[in-house]
Amino acid sequence: MSQESDSEQIPVSMLNALLYCERRFYLEYVEGVMAYNAPVVDGSLKHQKPLQSSPAMHKRKKEEKIKTRNIFLGSEILGIMAVADILEEANGEIIAVEQKRGKAPRDEQGNPFAWENDAVQVCAQGMLVEECLQKNLEKGIVYYMGSRERVEVPFTKELREKTLNAIKKAKELAETGKIPPPLNGSPRCPSCSLLPLCLPEETLYCKGQKNTPLSGTIALSDIDLGKVLYVQEQGAYIAVKGESLVVSHNKEEILHQPLVDLSEVVVFGNVQFSTQAMQALLQTNIPVSFLSVYGRFKGILQPEISKHGPLRIAQYKSALEPDFVMQMAREIVKSKIHNCRALLMRSLRAHPESEPENDQKNSEDRINEFKNDLPIMRLKDLEEKTFSAKTPDELRGMEGAAAHIYFQNFSRMIIVESKSGEFDFNARNRRPPKDPVNTLISFAYAMLARDLYSAILTVGLDPYIGFYHIPKHGRPALALDLMEEFRPVIADSVVLTLINKQMVTPDDFIRWENSCLLTENGRKAFFSAYEQRKLTEITHPVFGYKVNYRRAIETQVRFLAAVLRGDIPEYKGFIIR
Ligand code: SF4
Repeated sequence: MSQESDSEQIPVSMLNALLYCERRFYLEYVEGVMAYNAPVVDGSLKHQKPLQSSPAMHKRKKEEKIKTRNIFLGSEILGIMAVADILEEANGEIIAVEQKRGKAPRDEQGNPFAWENDAVQVCAQGMLVEECLQKNLEKGIVYYMGSRERVEVPFTKELREKTLNAIKKAKELAETGKIPPPLNGSPRCPSCSLLPLCLPEETLYCKGQKNTPLSGTIALSDIDLGKVLYVQEQGAYIAVKGESLVVSHNKEEILHQPLVDLSEVVVFGNVQFSTQAMQALLQTNIPVSFLSVYGRFKGILQPEISKHGPLRIAQYKSALEPDFVMQMAREIVKSKIHNCRALLMRSLRAHPESEPENDQKNSEDRINEFKNDLPIMRLKDLEEKTFSAKTPDELRGMEGAAAHIYFQNFSRMIIVESKSGEFDFNARNRRPPKDPVNTLISFAYAMLARDLYSAILTVGLDPYIGFYHIPKHGRPALALDLMEEFRPVIADSVVLTLINKQMVTPDDFIRWENSCLLTENGRKAFFSAYEQRKLTEITHPVFGYKVNYRRAIETQVRFLAAVLRGDIPEYKGFIIR
């Protein structure tokens, strides 16, 4: 069978997804989206038993029940394929067994039965076996591991028809290239593992089919995204033991990290990996970012680029459309200036910690409080002027003017006074940064850009093709575009916290010739404050529910993807009030 025809066969697990929700099928099969959650990680590590031969090849004793696991089956006629969990053979009868994690549902009499999507999946497997062995199968079994029950599924005429219809529908949907709309108010969404990636309520709101505040079907901040593991000990070695990563230094184990709780690994400088650790990370879909010892991004290791090529084609086409570019550029610049002003206002208030992060009710009162503060009013003015800008160059001028005002006033937000003046800030400088405050700002921007770069790859876009930042060799223009709105509220905010709460001291910096660097301890303090900041909850400016910054970053990238594939009309920047 040729490679080409292989790729056209739809996995039977996708028929299961289709019957659960057509949008879910499209996301998983066409866009190649995979939910990050514990069962996925757990399953991908455990199902490693080698493929085995067909039951017809086994020598057996009479009446012996033979179980054959993980058998590859494919049919050009049906256009489907499967790796069947188990095929049982006894007394000449072959039964396909599909294993499911949950409990078996019950009918009114309390008898277990199989969900329709599970029944269709096992029936499709049965039909593949029939074609392969030229033998008729009477039934299949769905084994629900949660309740340890085997539920018999007779392959009736109706079930076979349902299965063939599902195959037909799946092929049609895959060919349309158009994502189906989300389910509206369905009880399936809260228990769907793709919910945080599909964003059904949010999509319906953007299409004008739902009002805010959204129930937030599930609180997005409550979904555990897993930890980011930073490894900066030079000479550290990362291996895998069982289902955990083990980090050693000088042959001493310094960290034991279960893979199931991990979302990303970020390493600085000379850190070694065992091949097995690399394989486990690839298999569990955990990207590894490589940075120089000074924090310069070098690259990322991840399983593969998203298979959703049409999304990237839409991105490239949109990057050449002047109206789209202008709309994106305006939103990016407006949101950045807005958030710079918001951070400045918040930091200049007497007790900013006592105020909620995003108290929408008081936004008018807040601006009145600063009506005599010239820099803040000039930022407000520049933000409003973005609406009348005609070209991206005009916006660049406004952004430059706003950045000048913002950094001229940055020192007003630093409330500690170091005797040596270590944390004095006069102006932004970089490449290399020459003083501790600029060092922290540059490092924070580098970490934020890495986060955006990683989120963009996860969603399946090209980080090098942006809309506001002009694509240049080696410049991740889209990551730079999308980080603008988060620069003040995540990166600058972390810098201010580190300095004002004295989480870093002058000893955490090394000055060398004309440059200034963070020490290993300084970086440790930074990572802790940075990850903490990303877990801060805010009220979403559009949807009105609570979300943390880490989730907000990924959601913004997903919204851009939704705009590019025509799922929602326009991109809205993330702004705080
Ligand atoms: S969240 Fe709801 S609409 Fe989205 S894929 Fe899942 S079931 Fe379908």
